[in-house]
Amino acid sequence: MAPDIPRLDHDHLWHPFTQQQGWIEEEPLVIERGEGCYLIDVDGNRYLDGHSSLWCNVHGHRHPTLDAAIREQVDRVSHSTMLGLSHPGAAELAARLVAIAPPGLTRVFYSDSGATAAEIALKMAFQYHQQRGDDGRTSFVHLREGYHGDTIGSVSVGGIDLFHATYRPLLFDTHMVEPGDAAAMERVLAEHGEELAAVILEPLVQGAGGMLVHPPGYLRAVRELCDRYGVLLIADEVAVGFGRTGTMFACEQEDVAPDFLCLAKGITGGYLPLAATLTTEAIYDGFLGAAEELRTFFHGHTYTGNPLACAAALANLDVFESERTLERLQPKIALFEALLARVGEMDEVTEIRQLGFMAGIDLGDWDPALRMGHRVTNEARRRGAIVRPLGNTVVLVPPLAISEDELRSLLTITTDSIVAAVASAPAAERSAGTAPPVA
Ligand SMILES: *Cc1c(COP(=O)(O)O)cnc(C)c1O
Repeated sequence: MAPDIPRLDHDHLWHPFTQQQGWIEEEPLVIERGEGCYLIDVDGNRYLDGHSSLWCNVHGHRHPTLDAAIREQVDRVSHSTMLGLSHPGAAELAARLVAIAPPGLTRVFYSDSGATAAEIALKMAFQYHQQRGDDGRTSFVHLREGYHGDTIGSVSVGGIDLFHATYRPLLFDTHMVEPGDAAAMERVLAEHGEELAAVILEPLVQGAGGMLVHPPGYLRAVRELCDRYGVLLIADEVAVGFGRTGTMFACEQEDVAPDFLCLAKGITGGYLPLAATLTTEAIYDGFLGAAEELRTFFHGHTYTGNPLACAAALANLDVFESERTLERLQPKIALFEALLARVGEMDEVTEIRQLGFMAGIDLGDWDPALRMGHRVTNEARRRGAIVRPLGNTVVLVPPLAISEDELRSLLTITTDSIVAAVASAPAAERSAGTAPPVA
């Protein structure tokens, strides 16, 4: 007898960012396969992957080049270690990442998630200043509504109260500034410049904060302020990297080279967990010395630089070239914008924020108890698309490989789902004021 997957799920699983009490009241959607930009459930139903399997997928599911690269690597070795050993994939990938990254980023430190990529940058920045004798630089600046992952270090520089406030007593002290406001950043740097190790931010778009798009010039201005006050800049491109905003990396759009570049999500085309923290030769040099000087970066994860993941990441970059992914993306971004403009005219929609292939569609201040975003998710599922909201914001993050027809279909499903979701909730329930977002 086939195992009863929903039953096993309800009996034993605990899902991330999920209130299990609500989860077990609904039948879980069980995905069995993928094909291009579609996910297919155990009953054979097909769903457009409207959020790129949590903002990771790039070239679609079961891409032959990525599939083959992983199979070939399985036939060599699936894991050894980066501690005391090297392997071809890790070294080749490092060189390829350096070649496409903003100038000056010459060193690659691997880990396996976005949170660790950010933590590594924070620890490196801190230790770098300590080792230069600049040991007053112990604190960090980050943005309100910023998100850098869920481990304690990355939560310390997080700015989303709903996710982060509970843990405040466990976190290190930071300076949080309003996003998109260069004058606010300047005030903090002017006042605390000497105590600061680094500024960490998501360049151009704050994803988990609700797809908040910064004003043009903001990133450039922050880079200049960091230079002026001797503060390092950590660009967390975990979400915006690998073409998501229309260029390979978001920093390119403002001609900015950060001191640290954090990469994850799209790095393997959305296939396997891998992350990289890139930094400059100057930072790297600050860690050199004889073993007994203890300038070593004492940090590493067991699966760091895993060979299967590196093989997938190399194939991901190959496909960017062979399919001219970024070039072919540009007209699709224009279409996405045009389709979203129509969504923006709907009575049910209060605001749309979009850059490249990232968009947030606000439905206004609904009572969190109504779970309006979740209602849209369920309606979209019935119509054949997977989307995941951030509170009352419907989020669309399609794979870069999506076709124009699929994109139109995704937007039609989204529009119909918003109408149906709003119609299913009593209008009298629309609350005044700003309701907190509910994941
Ligand atoms: C998703 C995300 C992270 C965390 O990545 P994980 O792999 O989930 O740990 C960090 N930073 C940004 C900007 C993200 O969007």
